[in-house]
Amino acid sequence: MDFSERVLVLQVGQFRESDLWVRFLSPSRGLLTAFAFGGSRSRRRFAGCLDVFNEIDVSVGSSLRSPYLALREGVLVRGLSRLRRDWRRFGVAVNCARFLQSFGVQPEGAAKAYFLLRETVEALEEAERTPSRLLPLFFRARLSFDQGYALSLTYCFRCGRNLSSVPCRLLTREGRIACRACAVSFPDNRLPLGPEALSALRHLHVLPPADWHGLDLPPPAEREFSLAMDAFVRYHVGIFWKNGRFVRH
Ligand SMILES: [Zn+2]
Repeated sequence: MDFSERVLVLQVGQFRESDLWVRFLSPSRGLLTAFAFGGSRSRRRFAGCLDVFNEIDVSVGSSLRSPYLALREGVLVRGLSRLRRDWRRFGVAVNCARFLQSFGVQPEGAAKAYFLLRETVEALEEAERTPSRLLPLFFRARLSFDQGYALSLTYCFRCGRNLSSVPCRLLTREGRIACRACAVSFPDNRLPLGPEALSALRHLHVLPPADWHGLDLPPPAEREFSLAMDAFVRYHVGIFWKNGRFVRH
């Protein structure tokens, strides 16, 4: 599998004295790991390239004798400065990237995942305001929606009533939204979603990450949104946060 492509670096680790391993996201192949032999010494082949969240053009090769991919060279396309100096922003970006890696990305969903993470990192780099506390959760929800776990947010799935005009509930196990009256039949797994949380979910389906700061919610709606999306991702995607990292069921 020899190819050249623009990719996003997600993790870099040392392997032997002068070699590195690099985990990256390709917009056509998904998540890949390759070795950069001599990567920690070779300024000619990897000048300033191999840092987390850099966007780089890489040439990747493999040999018949080895099951591993090798990075032959890389050219920096876009690096980051503010993100590296601001540990809060950097932490948010790392949290999003870790979730994406736990989620796993198949080649058919790779382009969407790539652009979502790239735009999220770019928004963190360029935003004037400190990122919202909800940004990691926005990212998890949007990645899940984009990768096929979308929610229908307009009508009650049972009676067809328009959800904008009635209080509604997220039915976590069904992965659907119902009006409050219909949700009575699902007593074990319903979470309230008020109009503000529902509106944020609708916008989250379509807005680019640079515009997510406009989705900040007042505390009660923020709590509703957090509980609902956390439960949704946990139940449907099977990922939850435990002991400082994302794990799968
Ligand atoms: Zn209904």
